[in-house]
Amino acid sequence: MSSFHLPPTVSPLSVSESFTRTWSGIINSYSPAAIEFVGTFIIQLIFFWGPSAVYLSLEALFPKFSERHKIQPVPKQPTRAEVIHCLGLVVKNQILSTALHAAMIYVSTITGKSSFRIDASIPPVHEVVRDFIFSLAVREILFYYSHRILHHPRLYPKIHKVHHKFTAPVALAAQYAHPIEQIIANILPITIPPQLLHSHILTFWLFMAYELVETTTVHSGYDFFHNAAKKHDLHHEKFLIYFGALGVLDWLHGTDGSKMAAKRKAKTDAVSKEGKTE
Ligand SMILES: [Zn+2]
Ligand SMILES: [Zn+2]
Repeated sequence: MSSFHLPPTVSPLSVSESFTRTWSGIINSYSPAAIEFVGTFIIQLIFFWGPSAVYLSLEALFPKFSERHKIQPVPKQPTRAEVIHCLGLVVKNQILSTALHAAMIYVSTITGKSSFRIDASIPPVHEVVRDFIFSLAVREILFYYSHRILHHPRLYPKIHKVHHKFTAPVALAAQYAHPIEQIIANILPITIPPQLLHSHILTFWLFMAYELVETTTVHSGYDFFHNAAKKHDLHHEKFLIYFGALGVLDWLHGTDGSKMAAKRKAKTDAVSKEGKTE
């Protein structure tokens, strides 16, 4: 009888053991404040700039492939100069985010109250799933309503108009925003939910990584992942539809694009019917 054994170096157990060992080594070597600050910065670096670089380079390296998968036509795409200008504001916004995070960590070291659980334990799967789903739901609520408020006629020209400069967005444009919007619609909806649960820092990083990949993808302008970018792309193109990310609140408030199109069609049909009967 023969049996197949994975080499010990790649068995799932040894991967999890070595991860646990590495993590407890980090915990023993650095302060919670340093771990939170540097770790969050690295997550931002990998999961925002990584996908942004991939999406942006597609156009330069594979122009035909890129054109085939772009949701909006080439003439609508931003120019190279606009993308470079976008890069400048995104860097400024990330400096702002990093500075605010440093200030927040400084306050929490003074008060002795950390926003996240930072210890040698690895959070159990059920806890990660629970915190992730909760964070996803609360992020949707915070993002949807802050985004709708930013579309208020008094606030839109001063703040949110900046983000809407890109009617055909690119991945980097995810954080092309007024600093106030960067704080209330981009940073807080992602950082508040895991803090409400005092989640493990590893869970927060996982959630943050997911959200950064999601936001760069929905701004990428590409039809990848079953057209995941379509709704937010339409929001950039047509303004008053699809304010949320998951779609539940858009459905609830009637800002769902297909619902609005159906309403418009019903109105047009009623008008043309009236015209015929007159
Ligand atoms: Zn956007
Ligand atoms: Zn908007």
